[in-house]
Amino acid sequence: MRPRRPLRRTAGAALLLWLPCIAGARPPAISIIIDDLGDRLAESRTAAELPGPVACAMLPESPYTPQVAALAQARGKEVMLHLPLQPGQGRGHPLTILDTASPAQRDALLQRALAAVPQAVGVNNHQGSRLTSESEPMRWLMGELRARGGLYFVDSRTSAATQAEAEAWRQDLPTTRRQVFLDNSRGAAAVQGEWQRLLALARKNGSALAIGHPYPETLALLQREIPRLQSQGIRLIPPSALIREQGTTRSLRVSAQPLRLSLAMAEPAEPAEPAEPDPAAALIEAAVADPAPVTATATGAATQEAAPGGGPAE
Ligand SMILES: [Zn+2]
Repeated sequence: MRPRRPLRRTAGAALLLWLPCIAGARPPAISIIIDDLGDRLAESRTAAELPGPVACAMLPESPYTPQVAALAQARGKEVMLHLPLQPGQGRGHPLTILDTASPAQRDALLQRALAAVPQAVGVNNHQGSRLTSESEPMRWLMGELRARGGLYFVDSRTSAATQAEAEAWRQDLPTTRRQVFLDNSRGAAAVQGEWQRLLALARKNGSALAIGHPYPETLALLQREIPRLQSQGIRLIPPSALIREQGTTRSLRVSAQPLRLSLAMAEPAEPAEPAEPDPAAALIEAAVADPAPVTATATGAATQEAAPGGGPAE
């Protein structure tokens, strides 16, 4: 009978196995959101049937939103509400929340949008250059989303002056941000370039999130590239998992909240963001260093951000 392996050796081997996890040596991860879904059936269906856990963000009350949201859920996709917020100019989508809305009006618009996509576990902004740059409406919005429970918010960052992510942080709403727009510049070569930038960011920082739209070149790229990710050492995970891994929440509860909705205006293209002080990053650093008092730091950083010449046009 062979002697039993000493317990210490077994424990040591187990520790070695776990070390990569302890050291955070997981392969880099990306999340992908396709938004503006629900208006055009064929493109929206193609997005919902992409390989892997690509998140599908649905416009409220669009003609095909109920059908496409149900299909996405059946395909194991995370469903999101693509919430119309006031753009830099004009009004955009009919359910757009404007900064001139009364408290009762904006409550009603948010309720209607959420009710239109009952499967949604997360929210990202459609347009919103104007409204996301205003602190009070963002404080209201994140408070409402937090109160509903089970939701996260992804800041689409259609303006460099956005306050959305920082306000979500202040209110302990699970949150993260878009780092790459896959298709701001249309065309296969441009989309491929942004895809490579997404992978490079994930390798550099451990994770990265991209937003794309149901354009033929974007869908073709994702159909081709997603199956190749594993061999490239990159994980594709849904936004809820990305947020959990980034640790940008103390309590992510992804419980399916019911949701459905209508028209979509084309979202104006957004130029690349200028490099500038990032209030949300400062807030997050402050919160990580000291979980309690983050407000003062956040306010200071937010003031800095608003200063340098405003954000790009939406
Ligand atoms: Zn949009």
